[in-house]
Amino acid sequence: MSRFWSPLVHTLQPYVAGEQPAIADIVKLNTNENPYGPSPRALEAIAAATNETLRLYPDPTSLGLRKTVATHHGLSADQIFVGNSSDEVLALTFQALLKHRAALLFPDITYSFYPVFCRLYGIDFVEIPLDADMRVRLDDYRRSCGGIILPNPNAPTGVGLARAEIETLLQAQPDVPVVIDEAYVDFGGESAIPLIDRYPNLLVTHTLSKSRSLAGLRVGVAFGQRPLIEALERVKDSFNSYPLDRLAQAGAAAAYEDKDWFEQSCAKVIASRERLTTMLRGLGFDVLPSSANFVFARHATHKAADLFQGLRERAIIVRHFNKPRISDYLRITIGTDAQCDRLAEALGEMARWNGLGPGAVDGR
Ligand SMILES: *Cc1c(COP(=O)(O)O)cnc(C)c1O
Repeated sequence: MSRFWSPLVHTLQPYVAGEQPAIADIVKLNTNENPYGPSPRALEAIAAATNETLRLYPDPTSLGLRKTVATHHGLSADQIFVGNSSDEVLALTFQALLKHRAALLFPDITYSFYPVFCRLYGIDFVEIPLDADMRVRLDDYRRSCGGIILPNPNAPTGVGLARAEIETLLQAQPDVPVVIDEAYVDFGGESAIPLIDRYPNLLVTHTLSKSRSLAGLRVGVAFGQRPLIEALERVKDSFNSYPLDRLAQAGAAAAYEDKDWFEQSCAKVIASRERLTTMLRGLGFDVLPSSANFVFARHATHKAADLFQGLRERAIIVRHFNKPRISDYLRITIGTDAQCDRLAEALGEMARWNGLGPGAVDGR
């Protein structure tokens, strides 16, 4: 605290990112990074762009990248906005589209950045409880509001909604902006992008951090009809005209062009997710059905906080949220099969030590 702070700063409750610990031989399954790495073509493009042209400002509109993304999704470049991470795209969206007199709606269990943005911008919000199965109940969003934002699949549950359900919501709420945060959609979810041409109130956001394995490059995208995109551009150009540097623009475009790499790494993550889910259920975990690159699981008898600590002592880092309704769960990023095996082995050991749970799965 300091007397030099603007008054707003005293009221902020910043987002706490998953840790990036410096532990040797760590199995890092806590921030939903992709274990397979970026497309080699993206790395080549970044290397090729690393030259004396870095003395020049980048294209402020990232037109080349937007054209590439547009082609990939069958849209036009003017329906696409790009920013320096999807967190930044979301921050601009909260300011540009989601601040109204009526409250913004989002789930009680969701991406914890949403309430942080609301406090930053002074946006009223109402948290709508997930149902007993930890699902978003869209009927609960048919009430008067200033806007709606939902991740699909939801985070940190991984549970997805069908496109048809999103469309029903758009029909029920034609007069407010509806933002669908599709950070994890490429791991088996159904994207709402095909609805954009029919629903002027729909904005969809994506990130290259998860399915394209470029969390370190910081690139996010928004899709919507022209007036929504223009709102984002107006706020961006009142804040930072050059959010994407030259390397990010080159690397991101090449990542979209390498469709094979993208599809193969998503398929590997999905296969490992199904395998890990089976192993965890065998160890006595209740695992929510996930369409993401992580699973959300709770053990029948062991406290998540204890499991988290025990894993940490074995250099395996997962995410635990000490929050109402979800403090019994661990969020586990899908790693390689070898990493998933190390995790399952460690959890099996812990269950045996305590004489609880079906520790003797492998007969020992
Ligand atoms: C990871 C994540 C983001 C942010 O992605 P970045 O592009 O890395 O900022 C946005 N929304 C959800 C739900 C996420 O899980």
